[in-house]
Amino acid sequence: MKATDTRNVPFFRYSHVFLQRRDEVVRGVLAAAESGAFILQSEVRRFEEWLAEYCGADHCVGVGNATDGLELILQAMGVGAGDEVLLPSHTFIASAAAVVRNGGTPVLAEIGEDHLLDWTDLEHRITSRTKAIMPTQLNGRSAEMDRLEDVTTRHGLLLLEDSAQALGSRFRGRMAGTFGAAGVFSFYPAKTLGCLGDGGAIVTDDEALADELRSLRDHGRNPATGDISCWGRNSRLDNLQAAVLLAKAEWLDEEIQRRRELARCYHRNLCHRPELRLPPAPAQEDGHHFDTFQNYEIEAVDREELRRHLAESGVGTLLQWGGKGVHQHEALQLVAKLPRTEAILERAMLLPMNTSLSDDEVDYVCEQIDGFYARVP
Ligand SMILES: *Cc1c(COP(=O)(O)O)cnc(C)c1O
Repeated sequence: MKATDTRNVPFFRYSHVFLQRRDEVVRGVLAAAESGAFILQSEVRRFEEWLAEYCGADHCVGVGNATDGLELILQAMGVGAGDEVLLPSHTFIASAAAVVRNGGTPVLAEIGEDHLLDWTDLEHRITSRTKAIMPTQLNGRSAEMDRLEDVTTRHGLLLLEDSAQALGSRFRGRMAGTFGAAGVFSFYPAKTLGCLGDGGAIVTDDEALADELRSLRDHGRNPATGDISCWGRNSRLDNLQAAVLLAKAEWLDEEIQRRRELARCYHRNLCHRPELRLPPAPAQEDGHHFDTFQNYEIEAVDREELRRHLAESGVGTLLQWGGKGVHQHEALQLVAKLPRTEAILERAMLLPMNTSLSDDEVDYVCEQIDGFYARVP
């Protein structure tokens, strides 16, 4: 196709979340609705079983969304007032909010070239109040979990994962979400496995923790007896959303393979551009990582001009978290010196990455980027 033809490649196509598996989803939702199965019914149970098995975890607890999941994990683990939790600043505000909502203090650390929590930047930030390290498994990639496990073990800290973006991502053969005491997943529509609204789940191998989470998500009620065992809240995975997720679950691996194919396509087209830093291509994985490309986050010279050029060419892009790290939201008054994170965030941007994209559309996006940098200055 000629580079002069303007196309429309939106950053994300929300209707695709439904239309892609329309018939299966409709069938699943209808069956649940017609039987009156709305709250904590067999769809939730079956989806929890599927997800636990998929991740190789002993237990899965469906919750209202991943943010609640993080909050509940911290509550159940007793991480609260006076406690500090180390996490990257390049993460969704929800990761830090979960700590604050429990009365704790988020302590922000640097990210490395892979945009994930830098294990070499943690130890000097550990104090007598530090209780946990919580990496964000960003963009469908897992952090260097052996290094992080080493730090947490040596300092007697908890390891918790914000793996909201990393369902199916692996490090040394292990699934994201299964490294620490517990991990959380999000089924927000734009996530790799997206439902038709909000949804989340926690995975853990700790049976007592799973029991407590089941109670906390349902008003503090014991699921077997209905007795109130603690102060809880209402944060259940909606049964109809569980029906949607069950209907889509069997395609998850296919979905991930397609994302990896698209990443290969981006890499092939863009790897010659010195103005860009790309995420590692599937072929460049070191044998330890298996990335699912929830997002395709690049670093780009003249980012704002590039984004404008792409917008004029009909290509949607996005800055994660509006381009600000957690410590850069002035209203929240967090102080952290994170020059490396800030330098990366000045250049970071997301290109379209989802399974509604054709190879042709990715080629078009890349042609536009190439055209932008090839311009006469
Ligand atoms: C999406 C996301 C969340 C929050 O997920 P919800 O289900 O919307 O609450 C948390 N952390 C990260 C890194 C995310 O990308």
